[in-house]
Amino acid sequence: MEISNNYCNGECSRCGECCAIGLPITRKEEKEIRKYIKKNNIKKQEIYNPITNTLFARCCFYNPKKKICEIYPVRPEICRKFCCTQSQEDIQKQKAAIHAKAYWNHADLGSQMVTNMTTFDWLFYDDPEPLIRLMYAHLPENMPDNEKMMALKQYLTMYGRKDIADTIEVKIKHKIPKKSEIEKRDE
Ligand code: SF4
Ligand code: SF4
Repeated sequence: MEISNNYCNGECSRCGECCAIGLPITRKEEKEIRKYIKKNNIKKQEIYNPITNTLFARCCFYNPKKKICEIYPVRPEICRKFCCTQSQEDIQKQKAAIHAKAYWNHADLGSQMVTNMTTFDWLFYDDPEPLIRLMYAHLPENMPDNEKMMALKQYLTMYGRKDIADTIEVKIKHKIPKKSEIEKRDE
């Protein structure tokens, strides 16, 4: 998805629009973030609202009230380098170079194949629910529930997450939101 230029008076407005739900990171970055969140007792931001049944598809470290990144000193390279004033061409080039180094959410951009999918909720807080909900909601609305579940399991297996493909029924605790109920902020 293309992110609009949200700079304000020549500075980042900290709008969080670029703080996507799925970002590539390396093992080294992962280790540093784990250390940082443990040391500073960083809790993940809730991106799912059980009352309105809506989901913000954005990074669980973006704090929308304070408009800050909770792990700013150790944020991954993609976050450090991204700037919405760059041209789309430069953004895509930069993304490709970072994905080539990443372990999690690694994507071979040539084939558009994601080989190891995760979100930061999942990786750092063992919570795959936001990503599962997002994937589920992108399936056709008129598809029967059992077929959706099958398709979801296939996606998870294809994305290198066979480890949870067989346990997803119990992971989805609430009603599944419809496409229209989700605010998407894909990378
Ligand atoms: S860099 Fe990200 S947070 Fe800053 S203004 Fe652009 S979209 Fe918003
Ligand atoms: S780690 Fe921080 S800068 Fe990067 S996407 Fe998450 S909130 Fe945004």
